[in-house]
Amino acid sequence: MTSETASSKVSEVSDTVEAVEAVRATFTELYGKAPDGVWAAPGRVNLIGEYTDFNDGFVMPLALPHTALAAVARRTDGELRLHSTDVPGGVVQLRVDELAPHEGHGWAAYPAGVLWALREAGHLVTGADIQLTSTVPTGAGLSSSAALEVVTALALNDLFELGLSPAELAVLGQRAENAFVGVPCGVMDQMASACCTDGHALYLDTRDLTQRQVPFDLASHGLQLLVVDTRVKHALGDGAYAERRAGCEEGARLLGIRTLRELPYEGLGAALDTLAEAGADESVVRYVRHVVGDNHRVEQVIALLDAGEVRAAGPVLNEGHISLRDDLRVSCPELDLVVATANAAGALGARMTGGGFGGSAIVLVEEADAEPITKSVREAFLSAGHAAPGVFPAVPSAGARRLS
Ligand code: ADP
Ligand code: MG
Repeated sequence: MTSETASSKVSEVSDTVEAVEAVRATFTELYGKAPDGVWAAPGRVNLIGEYTDFNDGFVMPLALPHTALAAVARRTDGELRLHSTDVPGGVVQLRVDELAPHEGHGWAAYPAGVLWALREAGHLVTGADIQLTSTVPTGAGLSSSAALEVVTALALNDLFELGLSPAELAVLGQRAENAFVGVPCGVMDQMASACCTDGHALYLDTRDLTQRQVPFDLASHGLQLLVVDTRVKHALGDGAYAERRAGCEEGARLLGIRTLRELPYEGLGAALDTLAEAGADESVVRYVRHVVGDNHRVEQVIALLDAGEVRAAGPVLNEGHISLRDDLRVSCPELDLVVATANAAGALGARMTGGGFGGSAIVLVEEADAEPITKSVREAFLSAGHAAPGVFPAVPSAGARRLS
């Protein structure tokens, strides 16, 4: 397993008046004219429900205060110009009628893919000048890519008066990432960035995209949800995702159902017996147990939040971590270290979040314990020879919006 340090930024709020002015000014400097507007779309962290979205299951993300900002002007001449202040290199210049999947373009494939997906869906989008900047840490499992896609989709939706809903924009963003960039992600990240609201977690049924905003006001309960960015990203991740996905599909096939979503938690024991009798690979048995278990854990957490019993969600997060570690096997030593250290230091519960193999963990803590637990995790990382992790509270924030 190889690892590299992922870049990470901890400045969070990026939709301040100053930030909006700055992105406008950069746009004007680059393109020699003022933008038509400025839009924001956040990164996300998933509270519970991991590797469930490609099984038609449940997820429960919340939007972060960290956002991608886009200053955008409409064009009618077929030109697409893209720039990000966060990556080296100048303006990327493309023709909208020549956009084709899997052609590279590096980071620019994310926003270009959105334009391609809109045009593929029959929307008349005739070009744009785009200046991007983001405070969402990249590669930390916090969906910096979805933030880029959703902010681009929302800006184009407004400028070309397409009338698409946030959920429709999210699906187009996912299509851009799947088909244009070539990353086989589910729809959670884009839905979270497009549809989350302030002070809530988003209960999303990925089968039909029905959703409910579940009040998640941590501060009023004297709690914090810490995000711990391990700043590592193990190379194993990409192939492992495809392998888990294939294993889940195989499990559903052997059980004679369309997706693992069809399997109720109460039927899990019998289903595991059926899989064993059918000669399923033991990995398939583990994956099925994880997915059905995590769907159930989403429902458990929702019931607890609805009842105002936020603290009681802690042990459910721990169970989720154990399942991701032992059944799905997508954790890694750094993520396990966060969870073990935080729990030993008095956390209410913790788990890895996102795709795993690095990225981030979440830790539910009493407000008063946030500092000592953060300190314990930092010290444990340094003693183990890892770089210090990035730690910040996940304040449930607003989804994508126009700022000016
Ligand atoms: P995650 O979505 O978990 O942060 P991904 O690997 O899915 O990680 O997406 C990260 C990629 O998204 C980066 O490698 C880069 O190509 C693109 N990206 C994210 N933020 C920016 C940004 N501010 N500017 C340019 N590209 C970005
Ligand atoms: Mg991503």
